[in-house]
Amino acid sequence: MPNTWSNWSGFVKAEPRLMASPADAGELGDLVRTAPGPVRVVGAGHSFTPLVKSEGTILSLEKIEGLVSHDAERHLARVRAGTRLGPLMHILQGIGQGLPNMGDIDRQAIGGALGTATHGSGPELGAYHTQLETVQIVDGHGKLRDFDRAGDQDMIHAIGVALGAFGILTEVTLNNIPTYRLRRRKWVLPIAAMLADFETMMTAHRSAEFYFIPFSGYAQFIASDLSDAETTERPAEEDEAALTTLRRLRTALGWLPSLRGWLIRSAMAKLPAEDYVQDWLNVYASDRQTKFNEMEYHLPFEEGPKALAEIIELTEKRFPKVYFPMEVRTVAADEFWLSPFHKRLTCSIAIHHDAASDPMPFMRAAEPIFRRYSGRPHWGKMHSLKAGDLKKLYPRWDDAMAVRRDIDPENRFVSPYMASLFGIDG
Ligand SMILES: Cc1cc2nc3c(=O)[nH]c(=O)nc-3n(C[C@H](O)[C@H](O)[C@H](O)COP(=O)(O)OP(=O)(O)OC[C@H]3O[C@@H](n4cnc5c(N)ncnc54)[C@H](O)[C@@H]3O)c2cc1C
Repeated sequence: MPNTWSNWSGFVKAEPRLMASPADAGELGDLVRTAPGPVRVVGAGHSFTPLVKSEGTILSLEKIEGLVSHDAERHLARVRAGTRLGPLMHILQGIGQGLPNMGDIDRQAIGGALGTATHGSGPELGAYHTQLETVQIVDGHGKLRDFDRAGDQDMIHAIGVALGAFGILTEVTLNNIPTYRLRRRKWVLPIAAMLADFETMMTAHRSAEFYFIPFSGYAQFIASDLSDAETTERPAEEDEAALTTLRRLRTALGWLPSLRGWLIRSAMAKLPAEDYVQDWLNVYASDRQTKFNEMEYHLPFEEGPKALAEIIELTEKRFPKVYFPMEVRTVAADEFWLSPFHKRLTCSIAIHHDAASDPMPFMRAAEPIFRRYSGRPHWGKMHSLKAGDLKKLYPRWDDAMAVRRDIDPENRFVSPYMASLFGIDG
């Protein structure tokens, strides 16, 4: 029986010769040296691209998890890279620390989240990798190597976002903040008003994001700000029920867009505006049951409204089967060499397609719009870019590739997909 592996959405499948979960860094090093190549590492398999796919070996760090040590004064926590974000939140809360920001879910491993520049939203909040103080990796020779920001900032910037191709992260130190509380509010507004006031609305809060509901003309805006108030109950999640409604309306009325739009607007009008205060770890993550595939591009912040308007027009003119909301966020600029937020405040636009049918026609049609606005693709979400395109988007590309060659001179971590991204010959 061959081993079989698939990602969360089921779109990427692999039949590696070996799948293994080493117990510690020593065992991991031995496997990197001896296992059939290419050797790819998996976090939680929540990426939509074939980053993890390998016909050689897929290694999971599920046993290399948990807290190593912490510094209460500086709010630093050293954790093993296989730790999932859900347990990590509780570990940190227990030592008086909080992640400054999070994305939509807490299922990823911290190594996997770092590997693709996973992010939340907030004009002054960076993605997870911006919290890195130290990293420990197993390199392509199976050797442990340590780097820290104080001693070698360049190496942290080179390997903080590395797609599992600059060594395998075993331990990382995260620069956290003291635990905190957020007031989260949600309300519905016309998309025209949202786009007209985009800059103010997206920058007036610690964290702001919005979902555009195709064929409705409306967006749901979500704002989060620090709060000292008493906690109040977080309302039950309506996202899955809302998706079911949107899917049913699509199926029944896809060919009658104005009636479909009217019914969606009526349903949205009944949504209660949400307003609650909770500890940080009870605010960010949602449960995503309905499987989808996703493309997300990171654009210069000011291009966001124009690009989104074009994506909406494309969807509503040519893709009546699409019903998943589009998600729009901001991410602070950073210095990491392969970070899609490298040196620019970003507006991220994500489009989703039901995993039950082929997402490619929609994704292929949308991608040229994102690219026209100088978008950089999310490393873990669908895109068609290859080394030649990517090199133009990343000013430190050549420096990053030189570091990669030093860490992995024999290309142990290079699968055919990774070779196509990095321009590495067979
Ligand atoms: C339902 C859903 C919601 C999502 N929400 C968001 C969101 O809000 N924001 C966002 O930015 N993204 C989001 N994503 C994308 C997701 O966060 C990224 O694709 C992330 O990389 C997945 O983490 P993972 O642990 O599953 O990693 P995997 O997909 O398993 O791996 C991702 C990459 O990291 C590498 N890697 C994994 N572990 C290590 C390690 N120890 N050392 C070195 N490299 C390693 C892998 O080789 C691979 O290249 C979402 C995805 C899904 C399915």
